[in-house]
Amino acid sequence: MDGRDFKLGTSKKVYAAHAFPLPGHAVGLTLQDVTERAMAAEVLRRQALHDGLTGLPNRTLLNDRLRQALQHAEVSGEPVALLMMDLDQFKEVNDALGHDHGDRLLIEMSRRLQGVLRDVDTIARLGGDEFAVLMTFGASEQGAIGVAQRIREALERPFRLGGISVQTSASIGIALAPQHGTDAETLAQRADVAMYTAKRGGGGIAMYAPEHDQSSIRRLALLGELRRAIDDDELVLHYQPVVDLRTGEVRSAEALVRWQHPEFGLMPPGEFIELAEVSGTIHALTRWVLEHAVRQAQSWAGAGLDLSVAVNLSVRNLYDPDLVPWLSDLLTTTGLAADRLQLEITESELMDDPLLAMEVLGRIKALGSTTSIDDFGTGYSSLAYLKNLPIDQLKIDRSFVGTMARDESDLTIVRSTIDLSHNLGLLVVAEGVEDRTALGMLADLGCDRAQGYVVSRPVPADDLERWLRDPAARGDLQTQLRSSLAADDLPPSSVTR
Ligand code: C2E
Ligand code: CA
Ligand code: CA
Repeated sequence: MDGRDFKLGTSKKVYAAHAFPLPGHAVGLTLQDVTERAMAAEVLRRQALHDGLTGLPNRTLLNDRLRQALQHAEVSGEPVALLMMDLDQFKEVNDALGHDHGDRLLIEMSRRLQGVLRDVDTIARLGGDEFAVLMTFGASEQGAIGVAQRIREALERPFRLGGISVQTSASIGIALAPQHGTDAETLAQRADVAMYTAKRGGGGIAMYAPEHDQSSIRRLALLGELRRAIDDDELVLHYQPVVDLRTGEVRSAEALVRWQHPEFGLMPPGEFIELAEVSGTIHALTRWVLEHAVRQAQSWAGAGLDLSVAVNLSVRNLYDPDLVPWLSDLLTTTGLAADRLQLEITESELMDDPLLAMEVLGRIKALGSTTSIDDFGTGYSSLAYLKNLPIDQLKIDRSFVGTMARDESDLTIVRSTIDLSHNLGLLVVAEGVEDRTALGMLADLGCDRAQGYVVSRPVPADDLERWLRDPAARGDLQTQLRSSLAADDLPPSSVTR
């Protein structure tokens, strides 16, 4: 006969009873203390529903409670709010400080989060640095926004980890039932969409709105695909030449990534770089770009073209401790001379973490490669940092270059950036040079190099090589430059420089 577990009286003990027949219509009964086994089962049940690290409810339990809450809401008419949140810099903390500190941060965060929520709300850890909050009683739109604000405030206070103070921030998306959805899946998906909107907008908090959906669903789909696209070589590089304003020679080419998407066609980086940054795929993307650009430069060198290649880094790449050693191996394997590779990082990204940037750029320079600050003029870098940064080159942002012929203050910015660069011993490049007037003005101002549509749009490597080898095209460029340099409104000095 089967045994059965039951509790006896009020004691916390759990017993298993076994009944068995004895001769003469008697029944024998044994009781076995199975308290430990029962407790182990309870622990397993708890484990199945809670996150091992923080002890918070996990996705399964959250979904259970969400379903219950939605069923209840259908009867009571009480709104339900679901908040999805994602830490903005968790990956960096993890990479820079190690997993132990990353774990401690998550535990500490969970404590703070519990502190700002009511007991009736459920906070769950969905995995990684993703958390969700389920609000049931009194979950108005205002209430949900208020909770989101309190969460952000709680996370903004610095955390102490291993003697270092770490600041975090979270992007939070909110979806409400019944207005945004009445079933658990829809609500979760819409809170996710809102979370991406929050992340993208930089405002930190976003309430779901149907108009987010079109772009966000495409973005979410892309996010899932990007990783595969990299492995499947769906990315392509176009190269834009950078020309020496004194000689008209092309000195380098900037590698600009595109995604040859099977459905959407050739997509510009603006549509997926940020997605790659948010999702961490930027590490694989940057390596892909570096590998292809370095091999391209090596092939140019082999073909007798004296051309270096520039590659863009994202600030997230600076947090990747393996990048520089990996790059060093890449240069060794391909045999490309390190000084044929230039790395660019935008001024604003650099200023996100100037000390780290200084260290990583220093290590890149130690390899023998050169470094540039991209989009200069948009990021408020302090002169004190600039002076100490291990950089070789400044690239003036195209927003100033494009308008300097019409806008006096932009012209002043361009002029002073050129002077500043030279005073700091840096080479200066103007970006976004679209016409001959601008080209001539830049040469006159003493700018060293120029990049822009007037020279060439970014083109596939083969086209660039053909263009470089085509005397007519090259001649045209020289003529173009010479005629710019000789333009009427320029003093003769610019012609002879
Ligand atoms: P960026 O590094 O400032 O690159 C220059 C951008 O200006 C390119 O846009 C280029 O096509 C555009 N451009 C060039 N000349 C002109 C001009 O005369 N006028 C105007 N209006 N625009 C011009 P693109 O290729 O769409 O790239 C946009 C941005 O995406 C890049 O800006 C860069 O920040 C980022 N990006 C591109 N490739 C990569 C990459 O491999 N890694 C990372 N992290 N970012 C990349
Ligand atoms: Ca660039
Ligand atoms: Ca730029």
